[in-house]
Amino acid sequence: MVHVATDLPVFRSVDGHHRPVPFILTRDMFGGIPVELGGAEISDLVDKPVAEPHVHDVPEIYLLFAPTPGDAVITVEVDGDSYELSAPGALYVPAGHRHRFVTRKAVPGSFCFGLFLHGATTAVPQPREGGTQ
Ligand code: ZN
Repeated sequence: MVHVATDLPVFRSVDGHHRPVPFILTRDMFGGIPVELGGAEISDLVDKPVAEPHVHDVPEIYLLFAPTPGDAVITVEVDGDSYELSAPGALYVPAGHRHRFVTRKAVPGSFCFGLFLHGATTAVPQPREGGTQ
C-alpha cells in the first residue's frame, strides 16, 4: 500500500549535535522501516561544524548532494582520520566509530544527509540468507 508522509521534517536530537536535526525518514514511518534519514541544506555551514564528534550504535552513511558535481565538499572525521567527500558522494561510518563532518564548500542547494541503518546488526553489512542486499 502506498503511504504519503506529511508534516516533514521531524526534528530529532542526535548525539553530539548542537541542534535538533531535521529528519525526512524516521523508523516509525510507513508502519516501521529499518532506516532513518536526517540532514539539511548546508550552504550556510561552511567551516561551521553542526556536531561534536560522536558515536552511534548503528552504521551511518553520509550522503552529499549538490546541484553540480563538485559544488559541495565535506571533510568527514572518523576516529581522528579525515576523509574528503565531494558531491555526489557517500561515506560509510561503521557503528561505534567516532565521527562528524565539516562543510568545506557548498553552493546553495547542497545537502548533506545521514542515513542511519537500524537494520544492520554488524559494523559491516553481511549478505543475508535468502535475501538480496
Ligand atoms: Zn552521526
